[in-house]
Amino acid sequence: MPEIRQNRATKEWVIIATERAKRPDDFQAREEKIPVPAFDPDCPFCPGNESRTPGEIVSFRQAGTQKDKPGWWVRIIPNKFAAVSPGVELMRETEGFFLKMGGYGRHEVIIESPQHNLSLGNMRLKQVEEVCLVYRERYIELSAEKDIKIVIIFRNHGKAAGTSLVHPHSQLIAMPLVPTHIRHLLEEATRYYDDHGSCVFCDMIKEELEFKKRVILETESFVAFSPFASQVPFGIWIVPKEHNAGFGNITTDEAKKLAFILREVLSRLHTKLSDPDYNLVLHTAPIRDSNEDFYHWYIQILPRLTTPAGFELGSGVYINTSLPEETAEFLKG
Ligand SMILES: [Zn+2]
Ligand SMILES: [Zn+2]
Repeated sequence: MPEIRQNRATKEWVIIATERAKRPDDFQAREEKIPVPAFDPDCPFCPGNESRTPGEIVSFRQAGTQKDKPGWWVRIIPNKFAAVSPGVELMRETEGFFLKMGGYGRHEVIIESPQHNLSLGNMRLKQVEEVCLVYRERYIELSAEKDIKIVIIFRNHGKAAGTSLVHPHSQLIAMPLVPTHIRHLLEEATRYYDDHGSCVFCDMIKEELEFKKRVILETESFVAFSPFASQVPFGIWIVPKEHNAGFGNITTDEAKKLAFILREVLSRLHTKLSDPDYNLVLHTAPIRDSNEDFYHWYIQILPRLTTPAGFELGSGVYINTSLPEETAEFLKG
C-alpha cells in the first residue's frame, strides 16, 4: 500500500510508493563508470593549472610554496562563473511592478584535494578533516561580512547532480537574503517550538535513536539516518546530537568528528551503490538565528538515482520508491 509520510521538521509530505518499491540492489549503477586518472592535464583544478582559475582566497599548503602554485592540499578560489559577486552594490529597486537587487554575495569553490580522482568517501580521513575545517573557517569568515544573511555550503557529485567537473570540490554561496524556502523551514521549526517547547530536530533524533530502524551510523557526536519521509531513495541526514542552530558555532574538534561520519557514510554509498551521483547540502540557520533554540544545523545527502519530474515540480511532493528503513538496513554494516 502506498503511504504518504510527513517530515515533521520541514512539514514536507512524501509518497512512499511501496507498490513500485525497489530493493536497494536495484539502484546500483547499471553502467560501469569509466576509470578516472589521478591527474588530468586539462583539469583547471589539478596542480600546475592554478593560473587557469581565479587567484586563491586561501589555501592549506606546504611551507615555502607560493600562492597560486602547486604545493597545496586544499585550495579555495572564487567561482569563475559566480552566481553572486562581492563587487556588486546591494541596491533594491523596482522595475515597474517587479523588485530586484544587485547580485551581491560570495561564490567560492573549495578544491578538496590535489588528486583528480578522489571523493570525500575515499580520501584519507585527515584530508576530509581538512575539508570540514575549511568549511568551518570559510563559514565563520563570510558570516562576519557586511550584509551577508546566510551561507550555504553544498557539493554536487556527478553529472546527474549538476556538475561536469570531476575533480573533488564543494561550493559555498554567501547571500544577502534569506530565501523563502529556508524561511519556510524556520517558520515550521518555530511553530513546533511554540507548541512543544523543544527543537523538532532534537526530538527527531531522540525518536530515531530510540527506534533505531532508520539509523545508519551513530558516533559520539553525530547520528546519520535515513529520514522517515525521505524525498529520494537513499536520502540521508547527518545531524549533530547536541543542539546547535548555526554551523559556525562548531569547534574544530567537532569539525573533525563530522569528517569521520561524513566520510564513512559517503564511503558506504560509494561502495554499496557503485559511486552514485548525489547532492550534499549543509543546512544551517541564517546568521542572525545561529543561537536559536528552535533550529538545528544538519547535512542532507540526496543521491540522484531518480529524476524529479512533472509531479514533483508541480506539487513539491516527491515520490520515493524505496523504504527509508530498508535504506538504513542496507547502509548499516
Ligand atoms: Zn583535476
Ligand atoms: Zn536541536
